[in-house]
Amino acid sequence: MIIAPSGAGKSSLVNALLAQDNNISLSISCTTRDPRPGEQEGREYYFTTKQDFLQLRESGQLLEWAEVHGNFYGTPRPPIEKAIAQGKDILLEIDWQGARQVRQHFPGVTGIFILPPSIEVLETRLTQRGQDSASVITRRILAAGSEIAHAPECEYVIINEDFATALNELQKIVAAARLRYQSQAARHAQLFSQLGISDSVR
Ligand code: GDP
Ligand code: ADP
Ligand code: 5GP
Repeated sequence: MIIAPSGAGKSSLVNALLAQDNNISLSISCTTRDPRPGEQEGREYYFTTKQDFLQLRESGQLLEWAEVHGNFYGTPRPPIEKAIAQGKDILLEIDWQGARQVRQHFPGVTGIFILPPSIEVLETRLTQRGQDSASVITRRILAAGSEIAHAPECEYVIINEDFATALNELQKIVAAARLRYQSQAARHAQLFSQLGISDSVR
């Protein structure tokens, strides 16, 4: 899971990671916010009406959901279950409230928090991205502090100052997460069993 205040560089880092790593996929969230210029249905998000979102939520189709910056966001459950069944890595770009819910379902999940080098830089990046109105940017800057306050809930932190450095750090975290005991045991179940390794000692 990747968690960060808006503008910290989540999407840029995740897109760069996905371009270099075919073994990882991205969870596409549902949202009730309007598409930004250039955003495509089913690529950045599934854009839904509030009514459709509530219907998805009530019918148990969302692994987690939260209200963020005045809109609803949620993670569709079926793609996550499919990825887990196939032993594939899946990345979620979600807020801290959603991250807590995911952790309840999957306690072994890895949380990565992306910090900006400063609040001033965060504001500059949101402004330069040029995709949100001034009022939306102000709202997001005001919300940044409360999102950042949840950084201690994550296992890893990346400070996104130099992009190439931050991307390299993200790649290393993904590599480390793949080598965690549970991940290796699931991937190499047959070998672990042949070697007589039992989970019961954990
Ligand atoms: P960005 O932060 O500038 O990329 O803006 P977005 O509109 O893409 O995301 C708004 C907030 O919603 C961010 O804090 C995201 O991490 C969060 N978010 C996005 N997708 C999900 C999701 O599926 N579930 C949850 N809980 N939060 C999400
Ligand atoms: P988020 O998905 O967290 O809201 P984005 O990935 O959209 O953030 O990044 C916000 C803006 O900052 C984008 O315009 C992006 O190109 C820029 N950006 C991201 N990382 C860096 C960096 N290390 N240095 C300079 N600009 C960056
Ligand atoms: P944006 O509107 O800029 O695309 O997203 C803003 C924030 O929404 C992101 O920083 C992210 O934290 C949150 N967000 C996006 N998708 C989801 C989601 O599926 N679930 C939750 N809980 N938050 C999300």
